[in-house]
Amino acid sequence: MDTTPAPASGRLLIDGQWVDARSGKTFATVNPADETVIGNVAEAAVEDADAAVVAARKALASGPWPKMPAAERGKVLWRMGELILERLPQLSMIETQDTGKTLFDSGKIELPMAAQIFQFYAGTASKIAGKTPAARSDAFLYTTREPVGVVAAIVPWNFPFLLASWKVAPALAAGCSVILKPASQTPLSAIEMGRIGLDAGLPPGVLQVLPGAGSGVGMALVRHPGVDKVAFTGSTHVGKTIVREASATLKRVTVELGGKSPNVVFADADLEAAIRGAFSGIFYNKGEVCAAGSRLFVEKSIHDRIVGQLAERADAVVLGDPRDKATRMGPVVSAGQMDAVLGYIASGKTEGATVAAGGRRATEVNGGRGYFVRPTVFAGVTPQMKIAREEIFGPVLAVLPFDDVDDVVSRANETIYGLAAGVWTRDVAKAHRVARAIRAGTVWVNTYNLYDPALPFGGFKESGYGRDLGEEALDGYLETKSVWIDLGR
Ligand code: NDP
Repeated sequence: MDTTPAPASGRLLIDGQWVDARSGKTFATVNPADETVIGNVAEAAVEDADAAVVAARKALASGPWPKMPAAERGKVLWRMGELILERLPQLSMIETQDTGKTLFDSGKIELPMAAQIFQFYAGTASKIAGKTPAARSDAFLYTTREPVGVVAAIVPWNFPFLLASWKVAPALAAGCSVILKPASQTPLSAIEMGRIGLDAGLPPGVLQVLPGAGSGVGMALVRHPGVDKVAFTGSTHVGKTIVREASATLKRVTVELGGKSPNVVFADADLEAAIRGAFSGIFYNKGEVCAAGSRLFVEKSIHDRIVGQLAERADAVVLGDPRDKATRMGPVVSAGQMDAVLGYIASGKTEGATVAAGGRRATEVNGGRGYFVRPTVFAGVTPQMKIAREEIFGPVLAVLPFDDVDDVVSRANETIYGLAAGVWTRDVAKAHRVARAIRAGTVWVNTYNLYDPALPFGGFKESGYGRDLGEEALDGYLETKSVWIDLGR
């Protein structure tokens, strides 16, 4: 096992300098695998937000950033991608110790993907362009695309570095300055992103990092008149608060929120592939995935077989320290999250669902230390049960049988959420029909939980609005200015 330690402390990055919080306060961040403190981090508050906003505005108004040719901006982003790859071993260890995700997931999947995202948006910086409508002979009309301004990027703890890259990279490509507020459970890799930005050549004030409480520094940024846009990923509850508070200054807001995503398996699917996809669709990153396929709809004729095979796989999962190569699933992120997940498991049992696998805290792991929950499969789930309706955000799968396409489409859509969905079938027409009928921002067919920098991601309904990734994300960090030049008569 690689036991390289994570860094012991972190400071705020404001105006190109590493500084302590003005209050002098710090907070501890804990390794969820063994409950030890792995770092003490400066805790930003309202006055730090004020200082960061002043620096961000200065960077936009008079620093080198707005004067830099777009292609040069792109080069800085490209370099950030390179530095992520160069620092992969250290970064993945930090991310793994802070979140409980396996080293394979952080080092082989998520951090390389973050590098890809910086390099994708590096290429877009020089392609931002306006239009020249040929509508009038007495005027020359054109539009320009300008950076929206100062962006507050507020991100959660499930993919701390990756989800930050979804916001920071397009915002920088657009020419914005960014204040990054990581989740309190997982502040360490955001600090590393700040370091990478400085080392890649970002001028002071263009990327600043403010770890601290959502209700303190987070809310201060949301309310701040000097912030032009809030880009948020997190819970639907906090997303609604942010939308309400940001409306006082009519900030631009994008909110990528929770989900209760349906994953639909038809009897004509490649069942081996569907089982693998259903399994990783819920259990990747311990189920701490906004798009997790947490409602698995299975056609009645294959229901028992699928439940049996999923349960067998779940029972075989090796839980343990996520730094250990043999570990397939680490702990959930925090004691609070573990309690919430165990509460849902208890409610599933009380409401009459059948535990096909798991259904308990794994106290046998790591001598009882750490927040380990056995991957849990519930069968006999009905749509009214809490475990079928609410986002659990942990390793808990609800399996529901269905009759036919119409039945499953209407039940898949019976949710306040609309983030993602999956369909497994060999029938192409059926796949298209279901993909069209499900109200969700992403539909995967014969696969699940895959992302590409070019493909937008975001929600319908209470899963939020606005898009991360793709050209659409870049659009979200740009304003359009129309210019009318009178040509005389
Ligand atoms: P939150 O939505 O509370 O947190 C997400 C981010 O928002 C964090 O950086 C948090 O800071 C910040 N924040 C919290 N309150 C405010 C506020 N009033 N103003 C500004 N920023 C704020 O998610 P939790 O971590 O509490 O998780 C709760 C549930 O949310 C999960 O169980 C899951 O259901 C869902 N969730 C969904 C995610 C998704 O990807 N869609 C991601 C994470 C969670 P701080 O950490 O300091 O509170």
